[in-house]
Amino acid sequence: MMTWSTTDVPRLPIDHDGRPVRVHDTATGSLVPVGGGDGDGRARLYVCGITPYDATHLGHAATYVTFDVLQRAWRDAGLQVTYVQNVTDVDEPLLERAERDGIDWRELASREIGLFFEDMEALRVLPPDHYVGAVEGIPDDVSAVERLLAAGTAYRLAVPDGEPVAEGATGEDVYLDLATQPSFGAVSGWSRAEMMEVFADRGGDPDREGKRDPLDPLLWRSGRAGEPHWDGASLGQGRPGWHIECSTIAQRYLGAAFDVQGGGTDLVFPHHEMSAVQAAALCGDDCFARAYVHQAMVGLDGGKMSKSRGNLVLVSRLRASGVDPMAIRLALLSKRYRTEWEWTDQVLREAVERLELWRRASDMAAHDTVTEIGRSTVLRLRERLADDLDTPGALDAVDDWATTVAAGEPASGLVPRAVDALLGVQL
Ligand code: ZN
Repeated sequence: MMTWSTTDVPRLPIDHDGRPVRVHDTATGSLVPVGGGDGDGRARLYVCGITPYDATHLGHAATYVTFDVLQRAWRDAGLQVTYVQNVTDVDEPLLERAERDGIDWRELASREIGLFFEDMEALRVLPPDHYVGAVEGIPDDVSAVERLLAAGTAYRLAVPDGEPVAEGATGEDVYLDLATQPSFGAVSGWSRAEMMEVFADRGGDPDREGKRDPLDPLLWRSGRAGEPHWDGASLGQGRPGWHIECSTIAQRYLGAAFDVQGGGTDLVFPHHEMSAVQAAALCGDDCFARAYVHQAMVGLDGGKMSKSRGNLVLVSRLRASGVDPMAIRLALLSKRYRTEWEWTDQVLREAVERLELWRRASDMAAHDTVTEIGRSTVLRLRERLADDLDTPGALDAVDDWATTVAAGEPASGLVPRAVDALLGVQL
């Protein structure tokens, strides 16, 4: 699938010390070095994409900006990054919204994907190397589910009475049998009670009769009359479950044991847990991500910002009201990715002021001068980002530089270049 346009990333004329980026891995609960671990100079990243039924809100934007900073830190360290993102371009929420609004689900998806691209470009988020739609991935999902059935790790379940089966469908859904997978639970570390509490709210079907375990994830949904469906070879007409798309897309484009699986904390369970356990069922325990990194939720008015609650601040709306996208990006970077925080006018106001301060300093900078303060600022920026993506610490470093420039210190052009390269903010 086509992705959004890229933007140049300047290279910095100061040698990198080879320090690895460390991030917090949800699965082990510890800080781990990520990228370049195989000694082949590569880093591989998978970040779960949107379900395109509504415009990008600041919670999404925070996630994509966080992983953009990770990618920029890797590139600055000389690593060759392969970045994959999916887009869930067919799923329940999308179909329901299209029905509610009386438009074709494909039209809704393509309109919302277009808006998402505009937001990502405005925020200067580097695009993935592979942007893959769930629909595109269906042939891989089908062969994966066929293999799981053949291995006896998946089972078929008849479509409930009263749900009309589409022409060409077998009338049997397919589920993964979690009892066959000892690694289940390794990503989230959650208890069954914790899992059961959110499963239904996050797309699961614990009450479906006949499942061996209420938590077993749906792999293939046999086609129902009136719903979109695709050729599933021996599975008949139907469509894949939500999690299998990420298991197969990650495996196809990144291979086994890739560096980071990223997303919001609301994806820890079931999505990342199920994506990983399904991949393990397909190719063994160590074949999915090495680290699971999660962006904390962004709140608004005392609650989580989410579509279901309807309390969203949309990137496109802020842009339309004249807010500089670089100020939005700075506002997101002013909070550390692992800490929950709340969007307020004050957060945005501070970002606007910071952007003005930095731009005044940048305007005074001679492009090719490298001062001692400029150099130490770049080293501090690198050090802060390598330490679990400490973006507030990185912003402090640039604030200090801008303050010295305001006080009369000669301004080095190196810092605005580093701000662009590492933080993605154009001054
Ligand atoms: Zn995913």
